[in-house]
Amino acid sequence: MTKVKAQINLLRTLEELDLILKDMASPAYKKIGFKSPKPTLDFVKTAEKERAHIADQVEPILLQKYERIMKRYGGRVVVQVINGFCGGCFIKLPSEYITRSSTDITNCPNCGRFLYWVK
Ligand SMILES: [Zn+2]
Repeated sequence: MTKVKAQINLLRTLEELDLILKDMASPAYKKIGFKSPKPTLDFVKTAEKERAHIADQVEPILLQKYERIMKRYGGRVVVQVINGFCGGCFIKLPSEYITRSSTDITNCPNCGRFLYWVK
């Protein structure tokens, strides 16, 4: 796996953990009506520990950027590029982004989110 892909994967994992932690604290999520809506303290601790473990592996400058974007949008920090469009703000990305994406971590020029390509 390339370094770019590895970092993007870490950022995606981090985002998922952050959303899990957010869900656990959300009253709306509890209303959905799962049988045991209150997560055990064990699980909260595990998720927090895993989050810290993943964050440790992300390059500091990327982590800073990640935290900023997460704070701003509350989720969907790392988004898929769909047929040349940003999956976060839906603008058509300049074509050089597609070329750069294999060697660099790229952020949308409009919304700043991290971009990844499925293909
Ligand atoms: Zn965007």
